Amino acid sequence: MTDLSKTLDDALAQAHLPALLMSLVHLTGDASLLTEERRPAYVLLADGKLGGYSLEVQADIRARAKAAITAHMNGAPLPPPPEPRTVRRMMDWVAGADIPAHYAAFLTDELHLTGVDTNAPDWSTPTLKAAAKRMKVLVVGAGMSGLLTGIRLKQAGIDFTILEKNADAGGTWFENVYPGCRVDNPNHMYSYSFEPNHDFPQFYSTQPVLLDYFRRVTDRHRLRENIRFETTVEEAVFDEARGIWRVEVITKDGGREFLEADALVTAVGQLNRPRYPDIEGLETFDGPSFHSARWRHDVDLTGKRVAVIGTGASAFQFVPEIAPKVAHLDVYQRTPPWCLPGPTYHDDVPEGKKWLLKHVPFYGKWYRFWLFWMLTDGLYESVKADAGWNGPPEAVGQANAELRAMLVEALRAQAPDRPDLLEKIIPRYPIGGKRALVDNGVWVAALKRDNVDLNTTGIEKITPAGVVTKDGVEHPADVIIYGTGFHASRFLWPMRIVGRGGVDLQTTWNGDARAYLGMTAPGFPNLFMLYGPNTNIVVNGSIVFFSECSVRYLIGALKLLAETGTQTMEVKKDVHDAFNVKVDAANAMMAWGSPNVTSWYKNATGRVSQNWPFPLVDYWNATVAPNPEDFVLKAKVKAPA
Ligand code: NAP
Repeated sequence: MTDLSKTLDDALAQAHLPALLMSLVHLTGDASLLTEERRPAYVLLADGKLGGYSLEVQADIRARAKAAITAHMNGAPLPPPPEPRTVRRMMDWVAGADIPAHYAAFLTDELHLTGVDTNAPDWSTPTLKAAAKRMKVLVVGAGMSGLLTGIRLKQAGIDFTILEKNADAGGTWFENVYPGCRVDNPNHMYSYSFEPNHDFPQFYSTQPVLLDYFRRVTDRHRLRENIRFETTVEEAVFDEARGIWRVEVITKDGGREFLEADALVTAVGQLNRPRYPDIEGLETFDGPSFHSARWRHDVDLTGKRVAVIGTGASAFQFVPEIAPKVAHLDVYQRTPPWCLPGPTYHDDVPEGKKWLLKHVPFYGKWYRFWLFWMLTDGLYESVKADAGWNGPPEAVGQANAELRAMLVEALRAQAPDRPDLLEKIIPRYPIGGKRALVDNGVWVAALKRDNVDLNTTGIEKITPAGVVTKDGVEHPADVIIYGTGFHASRFLWPMRIVGRGGVDLQTTWNGDARAYLGMTAPGFPNLFMLYGPNTNIVVNGSIVFFSECSVRYLIGALKLLAETGTQTMEVKKDVHDAFNVKVDAANAMMAWGSPNVTSWYKNATGRVSQNWPFPLVDYWNATVAPNPEDFVLKAKVKAPA
């Protein structure tokens, strides 16, 4: 057997066969391969993985692929690309479902088979080139969205500076270094559409791998020359007389500096200001204590009594990591998280899969497409309320109740002999109310350990020696770790943003942040927020996709200014308000809008200020380009005579 033959056999054994079938269509030009028997059924197998082809069909696809890939590697040219009609059918085949027509444009764009990065701005006309040269943009934050903005601005030829408070790029992946930190979206999708990484070592990469990915993207796009690290924005004021933003920063050496720009883009995330709980005596604790997002690696937990407060997404990841090394762990839970079975959560990507991603034409694109489709609006309907639902309050509708039943069973299966534990970990609120966490069993396994107690009594206070629960018992602790989340609904805080007429954005919002498409607010011309109000997604899609949509819209907005020769654009109040009425009505019909749920998705007023309540495709459509009708466009302010 030749080396290639052996490599291929090994790789094909690991293939995602529907994606491989699509590569086969590209390699052979033979669309007749799309037969009904080669359409996957995606059935859930006993090990929790997805299957869907008979053994004969599997062998047939592998044998054909082997021949076609061998020919390709030996120099056979690719046939002409499949017709759009065929591509449309191929989508249905990979999805194993008839994809609704209104998804076609959006999915074709995501697939970008031509290899052309369709969202890369083309500012090559003389007018745009000249306009780009005159523009200056300030971006706050060098995380996933800020870096993306930098890439697009650079491609457009627009001058920009990214202001980053940290010492390096990466945002959340720079700050969250707690043990076990990893992405909970499949990585081959949680990456920029135009920057695939076929070498992700795991399906859900760990924090160091993601930080490395974002650093490499930063370097590849030469963004460091545009980033000012350790530079914190204090205040941004719109200078109405000149039609520009004036931004005050604290520099690396502690000095103050004022910068000016035509447009201000905030890319500060929703989850980067740690929130400590409001518990009496917190500051009196004698030992070390820290927040999950400010992990103290200098505090050795080995052999210590450790208290963890909170059981959200962060604690869910670090508790299983620290449990084996501590002497005793008390986990204080107020509300249990929902768990979504994800058997490959900690798995390595087999070498064969990496080989296919790297060497087989279009395999990576169709694999990503499949992930994308599965997660796009896959669970969306199951977290939507049925109008007039009068079933139990632990669900918001029939589909939601059915999903609930499935997930409760998955939890029961993990602790059949521990009714006491099950009583504590089976949520009573609807699934989708809070972020459901990808579960491969390590969470419940950690809670079942002899040295771990899950305490649900409620915390009364913290003392110098530990945690006192509501039953009056003091639980001694050497270290307290707060997995208590972030000031998510305090958008853009603690920056002070002052718009037209000296109006402070925080005062306008009064604790209830709103924006049009998450990005613009009346009274704040040329201010664009990324991952702003109502752009978080709970069960459908990846936030990278959302950022790509928002940045496409932002660049479209700058283009609109350039093409119309105007200086500022400000969303009309009625457009903004009408949009928010729709958002609120839709959020009220989602599990996270249920009155039975409290979470970081709701602000202090009880309004859902974080989440996008519509299907993903709606955001894609809404952000193709700004509608000039939605904005007040103002001509350049004349320089004083
Ligand atoms: P979180 O989901 O907001 O969880 C905070 C936890 O602290 C909750 O269990 C909360 O209980 C508890 N808590 C808050 N105040 C408390 C108090 N006074 N007493 C007792 N318990 C208290 O925060 P997070 O875990 O840092 O995650 C935040 C978000 O970051 C996630 O939803 C997710 O979007 C993102 N994230 C993602 C990943 C990933 O991709 N893998 C990892 C980590 C975080 P209640 O539920 O009762 O409020």
